[in-house]
Amino acid sequence: MTLPELNQKFSTDEDCREILTRLRWPEGVECPRCKNRNVWWVDSRKQFTCSECRYQFSVTTGTIFNDSHLALPLWFMAVLLLCEAKKGMSASQLKRTIWGQHKGSYKTAWYLCHRIRAAMQEVDRPMLDGTVEMDETYVGGKHRGKEFQGRRDHKEVVIGIRQRGGDVRFFHAEDARKGTLAKYIQENISTDVDVIITDELPAYKSAVGDLKHETVNHNAKEYARYEDGACISTNTVESAFSLLKRGIIGSWHKISAKHLAAYLNEMEFRFNRRKRSDLFIDTLRHMITAPTLTFDKLTAKLPANEVSDEVAVPF
Ligand SMILES: [Zn+2]
Repeated sequence: MTLPELNQKFSTDEDCREILTRLRWPEGVECPRCKNRNVWWVDSRKQFTCSECRYQFSVTTGTIFNDSHLALPLWFMAVLLLCEAKKGMSASQLKRTIWGQHKGSYKTAWYLCHRIRAAMQEVDRPMLDGTVEMDETYVGGKHRGKEFQGRRDHKEVVIGIRQRGGDVRFFHAEDARKGTLAKYIQENISTDVDVIITDELPAYKSAVGDLKHETVNHNAKEYARYEDGACISTNTVESAFSLLKRGIIGSWHKISAKHLAAYLNEMEFRFNRRKRSDLFIDTLRHMITAPTLTFDKLTAKLPANEVSDEVAVPF
């Protein structure tokens, strides 16, 4: 989907509602309350009415688009911008592109980005198989408090797992200790995996357990070696990390630890669909079927023992 195509296909509210209706209810419009399929369209209200419970609803009722004053063509434009920005797009950039330098509010743009981001999440994540590379990286700045002691430079830990030639997963982890690594391995890597390749961080050895494990010695400047024709390296998970870091440094500049997982999901979602031609429509499908994200929920205060300060970059 290109910008001219978007303008041609989805320039009116009606055009947008039509595709959202097809994506939300592929089997036919259904009452969100009682699931009845016998509904009628009231043109004057631009809403459906359920013949059973008389509930009046629109295609955006109960979705991320709900309670928004934004016109749907603007929503669609924002979705396309986020889909096409390989390194992500900041809320202030999105504001300038859509509303211009002096119009629109940063807060509106920020909330809009977060609602799109909330939908850019894998609903199911199949287990990774074949040759799987796993690595950890550290992002962000300083944190206060004793609970952060023992973590490298008090930075946030991001675990990356990638099936070679396949999908990547990113996680905002508590730490990179063996128990944490073992949990991510169990939850994401098939027990039939051919091999897990990591660097020489000692915690991996016990975290991997009985699965076949190879390591590359980055400290000795070894980045790839060949054994029986197989390439032992973590280069492909690192290339996904490098895109993530370019997003944090180049696009978002500053992201809070509280929202880091949401940015990781966005990056993972886009990365895993980078070769798909239906990225835009697939994102719309996720948006129209994802739970709502209210501003209060997004900005809810975290318990005192959780991180809430901004992560400063560069790291
Ligand atoms: Zn009903």
